[in-house]
Amino acid sequence: MNLAITERASTTTQPLKGKVSLVTGSTSGIGLGIARALAAAGSAVVLNGFGKHEEIKAAQGGIVADFGVPVSYSAADMSKPESIAEMFETMLGEHGAVDVLVNNAGIQHVAPLPEFPVAKWDAIIAINLSSAFHTTRLALPGMIDKGWGRIINIASAHGLVGSAFKSAYVAAKHGMLGLTKVTALEVAETGITCNAICPGYVYTPLVEAQIEGQAKSHGIPREQVIRDVLLAQQPNKRFATTDELGGIAVFLTSDAAASITGTTIAVDGGWTAH
Ligand code: NAD
Repeated sequence: MNLAITERASTTTQPLKGKVSLVTGSTSGIGLGIARALAAAGSAVVLNGFGKHEEIKAAQGGIVADFGVPVSYSAADMSKPESIAEMFETMLGEHGAVDVLVNNAGIQHVAPLPEFPVAKWDAIIAINLSSAFHTTRLALPGMIDKGWGRIINIASAHGLVGSAFKSAYVAAKHGMLGLTKVTALEVAETGITCNAICPGYVYTPLVEAQIEGQAKSHGIPREQVIRDVLLAQQPNKRFATTDELGGIAVFLTSDAAASITGTTIAVDGGWTAH
């Protein structure tokens, strides 16, 4: 194979070679799936999130071993603007710029409005929404200088419809779609796109724990918990996978997606088609 063909093959299989991606909340679940997919596409990756030191090291080492790209880790707390600013200072010092920003960190709390703990409301708005404002405002100048960037906001089907007892989560995820539109409009002529992905239920370790827990507490088989409890709203009755979410994120970074901006991709098995 001659050099030109080898180089073409590598830009086809590793279209993000030379780029740097930050995925917030990527020590587990969807964020880790997206970080792995971006690394498979050739991008250096900055992981972020909480968890056991040895598990984070294993996730980091696994990406390096599987895809041979540089992987760093930031323990920045997405509920704290100053911690996000410090993460950017370190990251921009190391890498110069962030090319792909995936705002994924998120938490949930379920309670009726009158009893919803005020501290939980504040934490959900800070982590699920305000952190994306801070990372976006800090990432944009470098992207604008380069004339290229991709911002992907992980919202939820709950960014499009509501569910009782999830006031803070639904408000934050709806807010995320507003932020997505405004970001896209402000940078529409600069080679930067900003879009949201709205997953329904995605199969992650947390979802597995819920299946086990509900099967035990209701005394019903796990298949019934999946179909009638967890996926009650989801017409296709299957979980999306973190690999599927990774594939969609990589698509949004591709040249084919250059004109997709300010919009939402629902990955919810038909939930919001009701
Ligand atoms: P998860 O709990 O497996 O992962 C959440 C990640 O966020 C973890 O890495 C965690 O350490 C990190 N995190 C939490 N608080 C943080 C903080 N203060 N600072 C930094 N990192 C923090 O959850 P997941 O299911 O993978 O969810 C990821 C995103 O996808 C969330 O925004 C969630 O709302 C959204 N989502 C998930 C589903 C689903 O079915 N799993 C569906 C729709 C949307």
